[in-house]
Amino acid sequence: MERPEGRSPVLLICEHASRVIPRSLGDLGLSEELRSSHIAWDPGALDLSLFLSRGLDAVLIHQRFSRLSYDCNRPPESDSAIPKCSEIFDIPGNIFAPAEEKQARVDGIYRPFQTAVTQEIARRKAAGQPTVLVTIHSFTPVFKGVRRDVEIGILHDSDARFADRVIVALDGGSGFVVRRNDPYGPEDGVTHTLIEHGVRNGLRNVMVEVRNDLLADETSRKRVEEHLLRAIVGSINTETAA
Ligand SMILES: [Zn+2]
Repeated sequence: MERPEGRSPVLLICEHASRVIPRSLGDLGLSEELRSSHIAWDPGALDLSLFLSRGLDAVLIHQRFSRLSYDCNRPPESDSAIPKCSEIFDIPGNIFAPAEEKQARVDGIYRPFQTAVTQEIARRKAAGQPTVLVTIHSFTPVFKGVRRDVEIGILHDSDARFADRVIVALDGGSGFVVRRNDPYGPEDGVTHTLIEHGVRNGLRNVMVEVRNDLLADETSRKRVEEHLLRAIVGSINTETAA
C-alpha cells in the first residue's frame, strides 16, 4: 500500500502491477522474455498509479506478484485466475499445477489482496472518508496479431456513474482515442474488482486501461498522466457539485 494517509476520495488499485513470480513457483516453464512481457503484468501501470497516487493524494493498493501466478482481478472459480494460456502462450507451470498448489496461490496471493482492499474500504467508511474506486491497467497494442487503435479504455460494469464522467472529461480535449468498455468489457470477466468492491458496496468506480506503448514513450506518458489526473479530479468535482 502507498500513501496510507491519502485524503482523496479516490482509492487506487493496481492488480497487475508486478511481473514477479513467487520463488516457490520457479519460472512456470516460461522464457525470461515471456516473463517480462504483457502476459505477466501491465507494463507502465504501476508507475501511472504511483503518479496518480501522488497527484491526487490517494491511497494505492497494488499486487506484488505476477498475474501468471494468480490474477487478482479474477475470482478463484474463473479459469483465467490461474491461466493455462495467456493470449497465445501456454503456461506450463499452470497447466500442470496440482490442486493443492492452486489453493495455496488463492490463499497466499488472492485472499490477502482482497482483504487489504476490504479493510481499507471499511476503514474509510468508519472514518467518514468517501471512496471512489479507480483501478489502473495497461493493454498491449497488438493482441493475437491484431492492432488496436483504442488508446484509453474506460471500463465499467452495471454502475457507470463515474465512468460516464471520466469519458466526458477525457473527450473534452485530451486528443486520445477514448472508448467505453474497450478493448475489454464486463463480458470478458475483467470487472471482478469493480463488482466485488465497488458495485457491491454502492461505491462509484471505474477501470482505466491505457495502451502500453503510450506509457513506454516519455512524451506520451506525460500526456496520459496529465489528462487522466485532470479527468479524475474533474469527475470528482462534478460529482460533489451534483
Ligand atoms: Zn490489467
